[in-house]
Amino acid sequence: MRKILTKRIQQLTKSPLLKMDSKVKAMQRAGIEVINFGRGEPDFQTPLPIKQAGKDAIETGFSHYTATAGIPELREALVEKFRKENHITYDQSEIIIGSGTRPLLYIAFQVLCEKGDEAIVPLPTWGTYVEQVKLSGAAPVFIRLVPPFKLTAKEVERKITSKTKVLLLNSPSNPTGAIIEKEELQKIAQLAIKHGIWIIADEMYEKLLFKGKYISIASLNKKIQQHVITMNGFSKTYAMTGWRIGYAAGPKEVISSMVDLQGHLTANASSISQKAALGFTKSEKEVVQMVAEFAKRRTFLAKELVKIPQLDVTIPEGSFYFFIGIKRLLGKNQSTMDWCERLLEKKHVALIPGEAFLSPGHVRLSFAAPIEKLRLAVERIKEFINES
Ligand code: PLP
Repeated sequence: MRKILTKRIQQLTKSPLLKMDSKVKAMQRAGIEVINFGRGEPDFQTPLPIKQAGKDAIETGFSHYTATAGIPELREALVEKFRKENHITYDQSEIIIGSGTRPLLYIAFQVLCEKGDEAIVPLPTWGTYVEQVKLSGAAPVFIRLVPPFKLTAKEVERKITSKTKVLLLNSPSNPTGAIIEKEELQKIAQLAIKHGIWIIADEMYEKLLFKGKYISIASLNKKIQQHVITMNGFSKTYAMTGWRIGYAAGPKEVISSMVDLQGHLTANASSISQKAALGFTKSEKEVVQMVAEFAKRRTFLAKELVKIPQLDVTIPEGSFYFFIGIKRLLGKNQSTMDWCERLLEKKHVALIPGEAFLSPGHVRLSFAAPIEKLRLAVERIKEFINES
């Protein structure tokens, strides 16, 4: 019996996110108009300076392999971004550019974790982290947060063992939109230093923030910077999901190992996309406009959703997601996936079930859609609840 797939791949959890997406696509092919709140991507155009830089790269024939770590101009622009916006000093050799943040996260887990190690992951979580931890051979250790989903150092401390290798932080969080407060970041940093733990800080939604100023954990002091791999990317902030450009910054020993591994995987991120991404330095106006629009939608939804008494609504501090508790609406033995499928079939509204975030009993609503659509969807959700 040799014709058999590995255990590694057999234990991969099939994403409920993809299951919902394929149902939506099948309905759309059948001519049904679906209001799709499943998608984790902005409904905006990539800013013009980025598009133009991409066109120029094609025109000038910038179509060869690049340096494995990424083109020096983009890494230098990111050094400057980190210095100015995040107050972290990195050298160019401490930055890697990849084909999206996702593969860089995978590479980071491969570099930092192996069998026998534990990686702490707060729940609710974007399911990809958990699969990537498992693929590294390490065991995920969960902290189950309850609304308003705010991570504290106390909860982290309770989960630390002699096997803990990595702590995953994602602030603002996908799917809850919660941020980790500065005082907690400081205490978490102390724990990481005391116990010799790596922190992977996914800061993907740093600019999609509706209160306060963003604080990167690596900026707190020089000591903690040596423990942190800061992850970020262009997908959400610059509406560039399809261009596939992400980046990571951290101690040289980690980043150079990540470059070595990337060399055997993708070789480098797309040359054209890297050149295009350089346009980010001229695109801040578009980002500010996009965030202002997201803020309006968030205010609208916060007002409308709290009027539905059966829902447990937490208002997100960042990202473009509401993570809504629906436990009171679930029938006996009914899964959240089942509830979402029925909503989709009956009212043609697509939400993502909490199972995708290892947190059933909730649904994720992405407000990457205009207010008129949000209004219509809220009406349909109300009807569905009242008819059930
Ligand atoms: N990190 C977070 C928190 C995300 O929500 C996502 C995408 O949904 C990613 C990383 C991956 O982004 P990309 O691979 O498009 O850069």
